[in-house]
Amino acid sequence: MDKSFLSDFQPNSQETNTMSEQVFYKQFLKLKERITIAAESAKRNVDNIELLPVTKFHPPQVVQWCANAGLMAVGENRVQEAASKREALGELGSKVRWELIGHLQSNKAKLAVQTFDRIQSLDSVKLIERLARLAGECGRVLPVLLQFNTGRDSAKSGFEVEEAELAAEAVLAAPDLEWQGLMTIAPFSDDPSVAQRAFAGLRELRDSLSSRLAKDLPVLSMGMTGDLECAIREGSTQIRVGTALFGERQV
Ligand SMILES: *Cc1c(COP(=O)(O)O)cnc(C)c1O
Repeated sequence: MDKSFLSDFQPNSQETNTMSEQVFYKQFLKLKERITIAAESAKRNVDNIELLPVTKFHPPQVVQWCANAGLMAVGENRVQEAASKREALGELGSKVRWELIGHLQSNKAKLAVQTFDRIQSLDSVKLIERLARLAGECGRVLPVLLQFNTGRDSAKSGFEVEEAELAAEAVLAAPDLEWQGLMTIAPFSDDPSVAQRAFAGLRELRDSLSSRLAKDLPVLSMGMTGDLECAIREGSTQIRVGTALFGERQV
C-alpha cells in the first residue's frame, strides 16, 4: 500500500447525510487492501484490475471524493441521475469518465449517448442498433460492453450465452460503437459457487468470442462488493463497487 497517498490527502470535511469524506477514504483504503490481497492470491497484477466506484443514489459530491482519491471514472445505473450529477459538477463532471452499468430504456438512449463515456449494459440487438445510429448522429465513437446473463438469473437483464453470435454480429456491424469487452452481474446467492460459475462463464465466453472473431476484447467487467474476490480470481479487469466505499444505499 502506498503510504504517501495517505499523507498527501487533504480531507475537506464535506458531509452527506450518511458519511463524510474521511470515512469514505478509510473505506477506500480498506477496499484497496482487499483488491491487493485478492490479486496476490490469484497471482495477478493488481494494476490490471480497475476499481469503478458506483455512485448511484449518492449525491454528486461523492464523485468529487472519488476524484480526490485518484478515481477518475464512476458507474451509474440511471441516465437522468447521471446527467444531473454530471451537470451539477461542472468542470469536474466533464473530467470524470461516466459509465452506464444499468439497463437502458430506449427512450433514454439519446441522453445516454450524450452523458456516458462508456455503456456497459448493451442487452439487446435493438438497443445496439439504436445506439449505433445515435452515436453516428452525435459524431462520436461510443465505447461499449455487451452484458451477458451468464448466471442465468431471470431477474437480470443481459444477452443469453446462446445469443452471443447474434449480439457480436450486431455490434461489429456498427462502426460508431467500439466494442471493448463483456459485463455481467452474478445472481444473488448464499452459495459462492453460483457467482464463480457466472464469472468463469463470462471469461470463457470472452475467450471463445475473441478467438472466433480474431478480435481483442480486453475488458471483463465483473464483481461487486460481495463477490469481488471471486471475480478477480476468474479474471475480472474491472470491479464495480458501491457499498464497500459509500455504505448502504438509501432506496
Ligand atoms: C449497484 C451496482 C453495483 C455496485 O454494487 P455494490 O454491491 O453496492 O458494490 C455494481 N454493478 C451494478 C450493475 C450495479 O447496479
